[in-house]
Formats: sequence, C-alpha cells, structure tokens
Amino acid sequence: MIPSYDPNDTEAGLKLLEDLTTNAEAIQQQVLHQILSQNSGTQYLRAFLDGESDKNLQSFRNKVPVVNYDDIKPFIQRIADGESSDIVSAQPITELLTSSGTSAGKPKLMPSTAEELERKTFFYSMLVPIMNKYVNGLDEGKGMYLLFIKPEIKTLSGLMARPVLTSYYKSQHFRNRPFNKYNVYTSPDQTILCQDSKQSMYCQLLCGLVQRSHVLRVGAVFASAFLRAVKFLEDHYKELCADIRTGTVTSWITDSCRDSVLSILNGPNQELADEIESECAEKSWEGILRKLWPKAKYVEVIVTGSMAQYIPTLEFYSGGLPLVSTMYASSECYFGINLNPLCDPADVSYTLLPNMAYFEFLPVDDKSHEEINFASHSNTDDEDALKEDLIVDLVNVEVGRYYEIVITTFTGLYRYRVGDILKVTGFHNKAPQFRFVQRRNVVLSIDTDKTSEEDLLNAVTQAKLNHLQQPSSLLLMEYTSYADTSSIPGHYVLFWELKPRYSNDPPKLDDKTMEDCCSEVEDCLDYVYRRCRNRDKSIGPLEIRVVSLGTFDSLMDFCVSQGSSLNQYKTPRCVKSGGALEILDSRVIGRFFSKRVPRWEPLGLDS
Ligand code: AMP
Repeated sequence: MIPSYDPNDTEAGLKLLEDLTTNAEAIQQQVLHQILSQNSGTQYLRAFLDGESDKNLQSFRNKVPVVNYDDIKPFIQRIADGESSDIVSAQPITELLTSSGTSAGKPKLMPSTAEELERKTFFYSMLVPIMNKYVNGLDEGKGMYLLFIKPEIKTLSGLMARPVLTSYYKSQHFRNRPFNKYNVYTSPDQTILCQDSKQSMYCQLLCGLVQRSHVLRVGAVFASAFLRAVKFLEDHYKELCADIRTGTVTSWITDSCRDSVLSILNGPNQELADEIESECAEKSWEGILRKLWPKAKYVEVIVTGSMAQYIPTLEFYSGGLPLVSTMYASSECYFGINLNPLCDPADVSYTLLPNMAYFEFLPVDDKSHEEINFASHSNTDDEDALKEDLIVDLVNVEVGRYYEIVITTFTGLYRYRVGDILKVTGFHNKAPQFRFVQRRNVVLSIDTDKTSEEDLLNAVTQAKLNHLQQPSSLLLMEYTSYADTSSIPGHYVLFWELKPRYSNDPPKLDDKTMEDCCSEVEDCLDYVYRRCRNRDKSIGPLEIRVVSLGTFDSLMDFCVSQGSSLNQYKTPRCVKSGGALEILDSRVIGRFFSKRVPRWEPLGLDS
C-alpha cells in the first residue's frame, strides 16, 4: 500500500503523483477497506461494527461516530498506561506523538506505529520531484535546514511520548536514509539530534555558514523557527565568525555533536570569516539571507495558517527569495503537499495524498467557519445523524466551500476531527486541493502554541481575580489580544481597559500589580505555551497594554463602520494588524511585561 520509487528519479516521482491523484477515489476506498479489515477486531471498532463482515463504507458512516480528542483520550491513556495496543490498533502502537494541540492544558497524545514511519518517509520523498520540477540543479549543492528535536519522555508502559518530528529525526528512516543527491544537508545529523536547542542552533548555523558557497536553499519547518535562527545569528555572528577564523568550536559546545562540526570546519578560514562578519556588521539586515547564502534559490518554511504573520519579516531578510511552504501535516497524520511550491504564499494550496489516510470533510459555515447548525438542515433533532448526512468524502468536496477535516488513520484514529478548517481551491486530477484557513478555536499563536478564546478567558479571569480586586480595586472592563511578531521572538499582547472601582478617573497603575497580572496569565496558559516560553524561548514575555477608558467603544464603532452588525457585535478577543490595532495602540496609557518565565516541566502523563 505504501508505494516506493527511486527519489533520485524525478520522472518516476511525478508519474506516481499523477497516478495517486488520478485514482484518488479508488485509493481512498482501498485505504478505508484496509484500515477496517486490519482493525475490525480492535475494542474500539467492535463497539460500533459487527466484526469482519461489517466493514463497508455505509456501515462505517452509519455506525462509527465522528469524535474529538476528549472522546478518544481514555483509550489512548489506557495504552499509555500499559494496556494492549489492540484497544485501537491491530498493529502495535510503538510510540505516542505529543501534539501541539492541548486537552485540559496538556499535549494531546496520538498513537503511532512502525509502519507509519514508512508512510512519512514516502510522503517526504514526494516533495523531492515537485521541487525538482520547478527548480533546476538542486543536486548540485546543499540545503541549510535548521531542524531540531524536543524533549521526550517514557509513559508508564515504557512507550515513548514525543513530538512527531523528534520521532522522525530519531528514527532509522531519517538517520539511515539512503543517499539522495537532491537532499544533502549542511547540518550533520548529530547537530540535529543534539538535545540542547541552543547548542544545536549554534552548530547548525556554523555548519551552514562554513558551507555557504554550496547552499542552494535554506529553511526550517515553520517560519517562526527560521526567524529565531536569524535572530540567533544576529546575536552570535561574532562568535561564529571567530570559530570560522580559528577553525575551532567555542568552548560552550560540549555536546558530542562537536566533533562533527569540527570536521566540517576543517581548519581556520580567515577570509571566509571576514566576509561573513562584514556582511553581518552592516547596519541593515535587509536581504541578509541572499548576502550570506548567495546561491540560495528559495527559503523553505511553512508560511500558511498562523505562520502567515511572519511573511513581511521573512521577506525583509530574504531579499526577494521565494518563500516555499511544501507540506501540510500533523501528529495525527501527514496530509498533503503543495504542487506549486513557488507560488505566492497567499495562494498556497495543499493537495491531499489519498493514500495517507481516509479523509472526510465536515462542512463549516463559509463566513464564520464555525460548525453548521445541523438542526437547521432537517426537522429531526438527532445532531449526530445530521452530521453524518452532511459529511463528505475526499473526492466529493466542492470548490469554494469550507470544511473541517476528519481522518481515519492506519494508526487507530477513526473519524477523528483534527480541528483544522480548510477551503477547497480546486482539484489536481481527482484529488482536491485545500487552502489552510485556520485552526478551530485558536485566537493566538506565535510558534507551535495554540491558544483558544477559552484558554485566554480563563487566564485573564485568574489574573483579574488574584491581582486586580485586592488591593488595587480595579475593574477589567474589556480585553482583547494581539500576537506581536514585529520583534523576534514574538509575544502575546493583551489590551486591557481598566477602571477604578469607585470612580471614573483614569486608573492608577502599579507596576508590580500589572507585572504580576502578566505573569499570572502566562502561568495559566497551556503546556505548549509555557514550554515555548520556558524551554524553547520561542515566545517572549507577555505584555499588557492598558488603554484609556472608552477605547473599546471606539473599537466597536470602528468594527461597526467596517460592516459588523451593532446588534450582534461581540468584542473580538483577538485583533490582527490594521485599523483595529491602530485604535488600540493609539490609546495606550501603560505597558507592562511579565518579569519571570512561567513554570514548565516536561510532560507528566497522569490521566
Ligand atoms: P502538531 O500536531 O503539533 O504537529 O500540529 C499540527 C497542526 O499544525 C495542524 O493540524 C495545523 O493546524 C498546523 N499546520 C501544520 N502544517 C501546516 C501548514 N502547512 N499550514 C498551516 N498550518 C499547518
């Protein structure tokens, strides 16, 4: 079922892609058939289907429910605690992947199998012929990809729980990958696999700089990580150049990857160090990527979804190099690839590969992107039955419509709502192409964090209760938020309108109280936010900007002038750049930052 071809053979890769997309419908049916045949004996499916004989599409659709994470969490927790994999999967669950989506403040755990690593390897291999189709000569140099691993832990049963990319980079599939002339990296594997992210970053940048004349493309997985690397370079270029000049590696690199870096340095290089240092010493870093890596043809980073906020900064540094978003994937499943990689970031669509999982689509409201009120579509009030009526499979989605993606995987997820909202933009052969619209219920995101309106409300409420009422006696009249990515790393900004409880005077703002509020909000945000702040340093200190009384009335006037209905007006809990932000920013009377890093500990896997 997992096709293979020689990744050095571009023609064969493109042909395979044509076959997969042309036969999308038949392949989807085979995928579902295979998943159900394999897993009909699992506890999960036995609860809904009548075993071996009951595995057709209609039974599946009528009997297996569409679920959210909280519905399946108990099953996954039992596996984490040591019960047999066959609760959900006939194939052994070999590890749990910690998603950046959270449930009750902790990362969601997604089951995975040995075979799934093969599927991912296949998926990555499909990216190669597509890039080759659009960019010549990628076999004549290297890619400077800044890739990192994150902490992992063992569950009670000894299963590993870790992020999907950590799992992949540590696997034999990555480490023992066959040589592929189109995918030669500047970073030795040892530097990617270095546990200490600061040492890893330093070493990878050093290797990328030393080999700058061979670098044909640069990148990272997400735009946020790539920009962090640019900032790191800004802070460390002198030290990096000193190492290149002397042919040594700075003393704080103590990880065992040090030797692999030394062998790439291969002795002192005064001239190269001087060239790099003089570029980096320029006052403006506009176009720095082109200057440092003059043969680079593009920057490969995901800039769709919440990462689109980084496009202007990336464009500034890249000096016009194309920004390429190659793929759309998650801990649950790898979904699709961008068949037109050099297109404008705003036009990126992903074509789902029909052999990765069985895909279904729950229509959502085209304007609000919220779940359709199913009851309005029929006179019965059985919501689940109505949902089943509206859900469509891969080849039957309609161009222009919005859907939430629902997946049935080879790894034990059945009709699982991923939480991503996609818009159908067209078809490649019979396979639909989707623009990533947004994550359901996410208002703020800087890196891999995903903060919902509800998370934000809970955190703000906690800060208000603990710090505003006593002793300052301030009322929080209104609030909204903004993801500020104008500096690296970006940070959350909360706009608060505060009023003294007993007067209409401007509030007296005490630094300590307000800083405590910032810290309290951070303490209450979820595990992934706190990990980004504490361990990864990929999010900066949270800021509260207090605005003058009446600001939120002006915000409402503005929103209404832009077409919001006054009757239904709700304060937006997050603003993007533009007029709304200008209104808020022009009325700021105090700015406060969190003065300490929120608590975070590696995952505890209690139920
Ligand atoms: P995780 O499970 O932590 O790997 O996060 C996966 C989620 O990241 C997806 O469900 C999407 O919400 C988001 N994501 C992944 N790839 C993309 C992409 N190419 N564009 C936009 N969002 C993406």
